[in-house]
Amino acid sequence: MKSDGSGGLPFVGIERVVAAPLFGESPPGGWSSEIRPNDSIHTLIAVHTDAGIVGFGSVFAEGELVRAAVRHLERFYLGENALEPQRVSEKLHQNSFWFGRGGTLTHTISGIDIALWDVLGKVTGLPLCLLLGGRHREKVMPYCSLLMDEPVKMAEEIAYYRDKGFKAFKIGWGPFGRVDDPKLDEAIVAAAAGQLPTGGRLFVDAGASDAYWPNGLKWAMRTADMLADHDVGWFEEPLIPDALEDFVTLRKSARIPISGGEVMTRRQSFLPFLVQGAFDIVQPDVTKVGGISEQMRIARAAQDFGVRYVGHGWNTALGLAADLQIAAALPNVDLVEYIVGSAYLDELTAEPYTLDADGMLDIPTAPGLGITPDPRQIERFSPEAAALFLTEAAS
Ligand SMILES: [Mg+2]
Repeated sequence: MKSDGSGGLPFVGIERVVAAPLFGESPPGGWSSEIRPNDSIHTLIAVHTDAGIVGFGSVFAEGELVRAAVRHLERFYLGENALEPQRVSEKLHQNSFWFGRGGTLTHTISGIDIALWDVLGKVTGLPLCLLLGGRHREKVMPYCSLLMDEPVKMAEEIAYYRDKGFKAFKIGWGPFGRVDDPKLDEAIVAAAAGQLPTGGRLFVDAGASDAYWPNGLKWAMRTADMLADHDVGWFEEPLIPDALEDFVTLRKSARIPISGGEVMTRRQSFLPFLVQGAFDIVQPDVTKVGGISEQMRIARAAQDFGVRYVGHGWNTALGLAADLQIAAALPNVDLVEYIVGSAYLDELTAEPYTLDADGMLDIPTAPGLGITPDPRQIERFSPEAAALFLTEAAS
């Protein structure tokens, strides 16, 4: 490892950033314009360094957009010190305001930021939670994230994953709120609630960031009431994402916690929602919002406002690994999102995630993100897989 030549501190230069879109088995999202298996929605990122160390990250965005963003950002990250994730990511944010602030450029910076933290962990030999401030827990509960379906199928799905050991569930999107049938909405929720394990938890996601969401505040208020009667733990995205005033009103009247924020990017976007009291639970997504650096700032700000943080993680194995380290590093995090039935979560690593008997996931202790992506597995979903791993010897 070289020194930076000024203060004699370690310096690991960024040589290149590689983007590898995943496709072939992209899971449905419940969107009205549904994702097809060959659409790329997740793109893996590798940061290659002159020390021969590679850090990995994940971006929620279409591959061509991410590639273009990586090219655009190159002049700002090339030759930078990979051991300074917050400084380098902030440089990328500050220098990209004019070309897509809060858009795909920000999503892409998320993947680069996660990968830089991974490099820092690998160089120091520490799991990220220690670098982020501490290790509050060894395990965290993953909640099983499922799309809604008609009641009989919904009950079967919950029962299937309950029998695989999950204790907490979120159901969302699909027909909920979209076919203008409150009886169907309630029947789906009741069917799911009826299959929970003893002490199990259920959350409901309206998915109002879907295109042309048809409902407003009055629907959200009525529906929140129905969900409270079924002991639902939170009501997610019950309103279109920008409806700040309506979120404030809904949160005041609802008997259950109101959550949201998954499509918002940049810490600055979350401030008005926190200041005005729009959410009981804030749900930034580490693969969109600006990475671990930004996610930690939002989660800590939420904590100071008395708002719970549960990261949104409709994710890959690498995105979940980041969520796990963040969950360890913060004092009051009891859940991570776990999308079931996605090859990109279950099949990118040689060692898949496994639940223990209490339905908990271990938080990795190995350096960095603490998981090892497997080139042969990733090859199944991306022709660029090999480029993620190729690296030149340390100079
Ligand atoms: Mg959601």
